[in-house]
Amino acid sequence: MTTDSKDLSFDVLIVGGGMIGSALALGLSRQGWRVGLVEGASVDAQLVPPQPATGVEDFEPRVSAISLASQRLLEQLGAWPRVQAARHCSYREMTVWDGDGTGRIHFDAAELHARSLGTIVENRNVVRALFEELADSEVAVIDGVRVKSWAHDQGVELDDGRRLNARLVVGADGALSRLRQWAGLPTREWDYDQQAIVCTVRTRQSHRYTAWQRFSLTGPLAFLPLANETGDEHFCSIVWSQDTQEARRLMALDTDSFRRELEMAIERELGEVEAVSKRFAFPLRQRHAKDYVADGLVLVGDAAHTIHPLAGQGANLGYGDVRVLLQELERAKRLGLAPDDALVLARYQRRRKGENLTMMAAMEGFKQLFGRDELPVRWLRNTGMRWLDQLAPVKNRIAAQAMGIHE
Ligand SMILES: Cc1cc2nc3c(=O)[nH]c(=O)nc-3n(C[C@H](O)[C@H](O)[C@H](O)COP(=O)(O)OP(=O)(O)OC[C@H]3O[C@@H](n4cnc5c(N)ncnc54)[C@H](O)[C@@H]3O)c2cc1C
Repeated sequence: MTTDSKDLSFDVLIVGGGMIGSALALGLSRQGWRVGLVEGASVDAQLVPPQPATGVEDFEPRVSAISLASQRLLEQLGAWPRVQAARHCSYREMTVWDGDGTGRIHFDAAELHARSLGTIVENRNVVRALFEELADSEVAVIDGVRVKSWAHDQGVELDDGRRLNARLVVGADGALSRLRQWAGLPTREWDYDQQAIVCTVRTRQSHRYTAWQRFSLTGPLAFLPLANETGDEHFCSIVWSQDTQEARRLMALDTDSFRRELEMAIERELGEVEAVSKRFAFPLRQRHAKDYVADGLVLVGDAAHTIHPLAGQGANLGYGDVRVLLQELERAKRLGLAPDDALVLARYQRRRKGENLTMMAAMEGFKQLFGRDELPVRWLRNTGMRWLDQLAPVKNRIAAQAMGIHE
């Protein structure tokens, strides 16, 4: 339901209709809360279906590896069939190796008795699926206008001068969240002095429904399998995290030189890299809000935490926030509590902080382990990887946890 809303009062007002905020809006509306969603971009633009993909320029460069736990949430919200109706690629295997050593580790869905390890989706297709579901919901979508200010005692003011009131305001406004700043919630930040180069490539050999990741001293390179409408198995989305100076050099290369460097960096695992799309670079910063809640406000998704993309877990952590906040607000409704009840929000924060911090610490550990050249560290990671690869029960438990197969 889009709105020019005359009545601008809500139980919950969500600011930010990305992959995370739009999912939360849908879930809360199903629980019977009166929900508003403000998104700066125009919804009509989000609803335009993409053209069939025949070349590398036809895919959206931003993709996510959706875990099975996130998939289950999208299923419960009714959006998953729409995600599946669009381009998506379930991957069955994952190979990770140390480009500066001999360590190699291989994960296989079959060993986990699962059909896949996860699904690679273009972010815009997930957002579109969620907005299509929102169109049939009671959520008041206020789009094409940005929130200009928020204060607990004054509510939300939009760029066009409209004022909105809500018992609870949710900051789902991404990594540079203004809501987080207006609420005065400090963050802990790690600047990696790295950038992620993102683009789509076509390779000579099939990707074999496998996610490939090679670590090197200057950062990881991932080839994530994509599928187009005709079942072509030769497209991959790449995320190449590199130290800033090196990333700048790679971004400045002409297409052919970049293509050749990429081919070498992935050690020709998929044969020749035949085509490369336009490249985009994102600065990498790991950021964690010390608190996710303030009076009348709660943070979810990248507004609460941004994480190094090396394990592709950013959106999955955001969906973990959505799942828990939905559980806590459903419980509040059952108990007759207001959505901004301090204890309700404190329970959400307590349940999410631990998991988010654990994942962020793991990413930091990975980054340190693969970013160092000293002999003992190299020995440790190569021996460790080989040992882990042969120790199926431990390896599979780690994989199941990361993929959200068992919670
Ligand atoms: C290179 C790279 C690769 C990644 N790969 C993966 C991956 O493989 N798997 C994975 O799980 N994650 C991945 N991520 C992370 C993932 O993309 C993010 O975690 C996820 O998109 C965050 O979603 P969000 O809805 O919280 O924020 P966003 O997607 O940033 O959405 C925020 C929304 O808020 C709106 N907004 C902002 N301010 C205002 C305002 N003032 N008023 C109104 N609207 C506003 C914006 O228009 C936007 O739509 C990757 C990230 C990067 C950088």
